[in-house]
Amino acid sequence: MCMNRRLPKAPGWWLLSVLGLTWAFGCAPVFAGCIASGDPAIRALQTLIDKDAAQALQQAQLQSQALLLAPRRLAPRPDPQRLASLYAVQAQAYSILELDEKAKNAAQEGLKLATQSGDPVHQDLLSAYAENIYDAAGMEGAIQAIDAARSPQGKGSLADTCLLITRGLLQYRQDRADLAISSLTQAYHASVAAAFAAPRILAASVLSTVMRSTGDYTQALALNQEAIDWHMQHGATLGLSVDRFLRGKILNLMGQYGTALEEFTEARKLSVQLDDTQGIAFADLLACSARIELGQLDHATAECGNALRLFTASHSADQVKETKVLLARIDLAAGRAGSALATLNEVLDQGGADLLPGRVAAVYQWRARANAALHDFHAGYKDLAEYARRYAAANDAERIKVAAALRARFETDREIERNSLLKHELGASREEAQRQAQTLRWNAVAAVMGVLVIALLIYFLIVNHRYRQQLVKLASLDGLTGLPNRRRTAELATAALANAAAMGTPLTIAIIDMDHFKIINDRCGHATGDFVLKEFARVGREALRDSDVLGRWGGEEFLLIMPEATLEFALGALERMRTLLFGICLPASGAGMRVSLSAGLAQRERHGRSLDEMIARADSALYVAKNEGRDLVRVADEGYLATSAIRRAIRQ
Ligand code: GH3
Ligand code: MG
Ligand code: MG
Repeated sequence: MCMNRRLPKAPGWWLLSVLGLTWAFGCAPVFAGCIASGDPAIRALQTLIDKDAAQALQQAQLQSQALLLAPRRLAPRPDPQRLASLYAVQAQAYSILELDEKAKNAAQEGLKLATQSGDPVHQDLLSAYAENIYDAAGMEGAIQAIDAARSPQGKGSLADTCLLITRGLLQYRQDRADLAISSLTQAYHASVAAAFAAPRILAASVLSTVMRSTGDYTQALALNQEAIDWHMQHGATLGLSVDRFLRGKILNLMGQYGTALEEFTEARKLSVQLDDTQGIAFADLLACSARIELGQLDHATAECGNALRLFTASHSADQVKETKVLLARIDLAAGRAGSALATLNEVLDQGGADLLPGRVAAVYQWRARANAALHDFHAGYKDLAEYARRYAAANDAERIKVAAALRARFETDREIERNSLLKHELGASREEAQRQAQTLRWNAVAAVMGVLVIALLIYFLIVNHRYRQQLVKLASLDGLTGLPNRRRTAELATAALANAAAMGTPLTIAIIDMDHFKIINDRCGHATGDFVLKEFARVGREALRDSDVLGRWGGEEFLLIMPEATLEFALGALERMRTLLFGICLPASGAGMRVSLSAGLAQRERHGRSLDEMIARADSALYVAKNEGRDLVRVADEGYLATSAIRRAIRQ
């Protein structure tokens, strides 16, 4: 019988993963229960198994009896699902307590009730049953049952993954490391999702053990490290103690006895914390074996002695024998060959029953040494021959096993490589897509920014243009009257003159000056003066055509430009202006005063092109008007051909 150890479930973890890992040399790891029950009462029992299997067993038995014996009128038929779940709890508890037959019986009872292969209880029962099978035919049947239960499951589902792990475990137990690697790697890869963390760690732990058995210590250590990290992260002390123990075992096989010893010491500490006597026993056993290799025989004796005491108490026949072999080796090393021989004889009684075939060969070798030390060469030679025979057989089997496992590994690695290649390609194309999307985003941002910048530029250009226009306008207008200022008036006059000359059309200009403006200012105030100037500008524009220009020439002087206007026409316009001026009222202080103007007119002469000359003539006409008493319009050229109407107008 193999000793089973369990891995604790992570605190609060919804998935109950009760893993029984075998501590024995070469014994298969066992686990019971992979899926937590949906029924809180059952789940409580599942959790209790993890803490106190005997207590859980007792409670499950009581509850199932209560269900079976309940008066028919209260419960016409016991709930089969609940009963099956209770059997599953019992099977798992028996399994942990290493009562293989009872575990199998309980599982079988449950399986009669939970017959649906897709039912998690059915799967749990199947696993509990399968884990407790050690005979070849039974294991073969269990694998077939697992495959039947697996087929309706979704590939990669939790139930499928749990069943795959049980399958891998059985294959390992069948000494088919190659098949076990295939099943467990599949389960390991299927449980990448976060919700599958517990089965993944379960798969990693079992796979690590299988890898160790094939001599792939690097892989075994890597998988073991994954379990260590996870258990540490989840504060799973029991799991951690098992992991560290298993790490020590791998290191022991690698010949790193010192480091291995540290791991066993750590594992033992954790087991002491948990009051886990089995854990302490195994840690002592393995520490003892490392100490023998290191030549620390006193320590080794103490540790092996303690392990022997604990294993004897727990009736672990195989481990008792393993411990005795180590004690015999200590005796041999210490020169107590007689004592060693006696112990080894005990171990090899009935051909080393309870021990694994591969382990027995080594014991014959130790007994050969003991016999040789005692000078019984005949017996020694016989043991050596037996050792050689068994070793060769075990070695052949080992070689075949390792070759098959290597093939499986090669296939698995190739698949992993292919997957990682695909993943890499997928990642690369995803990265490329992301890059393109990023470029697109940047392009869009750049385009939007470009449009914004252009819009802003256009806006600024428009604003600037308007501003400039305003400035130009402001620069060319007189602030008080709103009429073109002197500079602008001169420009317009020059242009009008040039145009008239080019077209051969008439052009008349007039210089208008306010009469006695100083007196208006003095009497009525400067503001009234300003008001009069503004009013003149307003009424002046009213009396003119759009094509005429009235500009402020300076102070209370204005220049009037009338393209295509004859003298007669111009005099008419000035007359309108005069009349309109009468309407401008002055305040009381200006009583008795009237706003009036005097103007001097000049007409473009036939070849006249100079504005200054025209203005000078208009000015002298104005001078005449002033001299003649103001409120008059005078025409520059005395010799002009004025119509009678003009003359009349002038005389008025
Ligand atoms: P005359 O009939 O001979 O033209 O007499 P006048 O008083 O109008 O002429 P004068 O040249 O002696 O005075 C012009 C006055 O016009 C002097 C000045 O203070 C006034 N003046 C010039 N520009 C402005 C102005 O923008 N606002 C005001 N209120 N007065 C102005
Ligand atoms: Mg003046
Ligand atoms: Mg004046």
